[in-house]
Amino acid sequence: MIVGGNQAKLDFDNTEVAFRNKSNNDLEKAYWLFKMVSSSALIKVGTPLTNLALKIGLPIQGIIKNTIYRQFCGGETIHGCQPTIDELGQGQVTTILDYSVEGEETEEGFELTCKEILQTIAYAKANPLISFCVFKPTGLGRFDLFAKLDARDTLTPLEKDEFSRVHHRIDRICKASFEANIKILIDAEHSWVQDTIDDLAREMMERYNKEEAIVYNTYQLYRHDKLASLMADFSYAQTQDFYLGAKLVRGAYMEIERERALEKGYPSPIHVDKAASDRDYNDAIEFCLDRVNRVGLMAGTHNEDSSRLLAQQIIHRDISPKNRHVFFAQLLGMSDNLSFNLAAAGYNVAKYVPYGPVKSVMPYLFRRAQENTSVGGQTGRELALIITEQKRRKQI
Ligand SMILES: Cc1cc2nc3c(=O)[nH]c(=O)nc-3n(C[C@H](O)[C@H](O)[C@H](O)COP(=O)(O)OP(=O)(O)OC[C@H]3O[C@@H](n4cnc5c(N)ncnc54)[C@H](O)[C@@H]3O)c2cc1C
Repeated sequence: MIVGGNQAKLDFDNTEVAFRNKSNNDLEKAYWLFKMVSSSALIKVGTPLTNLALKIGLPIQGIIKNTIYRQFCGGETIHGCQPTIDELGQGQVTTILDYSVEGEETEEGFELTCKEILQTIAYAKANPLISFCVFKPTGLGRFDLFAKLDARDTLTPLEKDEFSRVHHRIDRICKASFEANIKILIDAEHSWVQDTIDDLAREMMERYNKEEAIVYNTYQLYRHDKLASLMADFSYAQTQDFYLGAKLVRGAYMEIERERALEKGYPSPIHVDKAASDRDYNDAIEFCLDRVNRVGLMAGTHNEDSSRLLAQQIIHRDISPKNRHVFFAQLLGMSDNLSFNLAAAGYNVAKYVPYGPVKSVMPYLFRRAQENTSVGGQTGRELALIITEQKRRKQI
């Protein structure tokens, strides 16, 4: 039985629904922003220049805040994100508060990040418009420590202590999520730290997912081994009697992965071409849907074909679009045509809402800018949608 009844009307080209929350001025700003980032030359030069300007204290934070930060971030603090949370909520889209401070490498910094994530969980508990919380494991411990564990190198006694603190932070976060009944996503990172992250995620799922999928690990389907990992984790979850939480993404670090593999002389973990990543991604969606009673699925993607496939398969399998185990997710400031049209058609949709001080979220913003430089790719699509909506508004 299909609940909702609007599924037949799902139309990713409906810009009226996609940009309902955006004023003409917002649209104009977004247009120029995507136009700017579509120049790869500008991004190549702009990234180190912006970093340098911030380092030497040039007053450019205001410019960043009113442009790229405004497009892709919710605010500097949790409370500062509330207007964004409300705005998304008006379009039936829920929020994933994402504390996006990166590059922290001190114990004090890791502790602060842990406390901040615990705050997001407490905030989510009192706010039905927040559907998930999230953390990046290397925000809670040294990247090189994760890499050492991944390489199966022996840790010094000091490093063992250090790792037990990382483990404790992750456990505190997952336990707090469990107690608050708020689902928590564990982001995926570079392949040379990912085994350690996967081990931790599996342990947390086994501990906290006995009655419900609370902890979700992330599977990067641009890796040729990750569909198999998903299947193996599902089998393990079955034998140990817990729910699997699976956020599916293609993966954000393709170039770095390929370069490192070449430099170090090992086979690249990334699929040979995009079609192979797409095929595994869509297979992973179907694998999870086939087991939807035991798997919590989040499709973290801006890909229209994968999103359409998931929407169609939900209907085809007579799964309620409001099933608590199936979510679509996009990043704030991107693919509003998917988020708001899916939500209007009755599906569960969430947006990552990154937040944090302007200076500290710059690595996140540079990644967004870099992945938007291809006009043939996502930026072209964003620009075309904005232009369509601007024309539509002029005609009425
Ligand atoms: C809600 C959400 C959460 C996310 N969380 C994470 C996370 O935890 N970890 C993470 O790594 N990423 C994460 N991402 C980013 C994601 O991995 C992708 O980089 C991004 O979403 C683009 O992929 P796509 O599925 O949207 O669609 P598309 O634009 O269709 O696909 C682009 C992606 O396809 C893959 N690809 C492109 N060309 C090739 C090629 N030649 N060969 C093989 N593969 C190729 C790459 O992964 C590339 O990013 C997240 C994205 C979203 C929306």
